[in-house]
Amino acid sequence: MRRAKGAAHLKGGFRLAEATAAAPEVRPLVPHLTLGETRDQDYLNGSICKNCNAKYVGPRLFCGKCSSAGPFETVRLASTGELHVFTIIHQATPYVQAPYVAAIIDLDGGGSVNTNIVGIEPKPENLKFGMKVKMFTEKVSEDKEGNSYVAYRFTPA
Ligand SMILES: [Zn+2]
Repeated sequence: MRRAKGAAHLKGGFRLAEATAAAPEVRPLVPHLTLGETRDQDYLNGSICKNCNAKYVGPRLFCGKCSSAGPFETVRLASTGELHVFTIIHQATPYVQAPYVAAIIDLDGGGSVNTNIVGIEPKPENLKFGMKVKMFTEKVSEDKEGNSYVAYRFTPA
């Protein structure tokens, strides 16, 4: 029986249609991360309320500042910001390595994001409210089909 993608002619000994269908993708772990061609082009996306100019991370259906349903405009957010608040998590769910730093970052130009701060020992003396941080992305997982998943984290700038 011929397959539905019957145009799988042998070309150089290689079935093109099947190779295309099976090509693994690189995907963001969360919808508010937009991936570029390379990891240094990745960025967070957000929403601006056109009614009051409040800026949020990710898509939004309701504005917590002006209590309107928008409309919202999708925007690119900064990859730099300041540490607003943090806590050091010592007990985590299974398979999550602790301790780690959970934080809220105020992004330059607006928007606040929940994230982890990495690249430092997770000790209070290494963290200061208002310290400059920057985002980076990296592959964190892969599914059974070979698709990669990319997540963002922050590190001291
Ligand atoms: Zn608003």
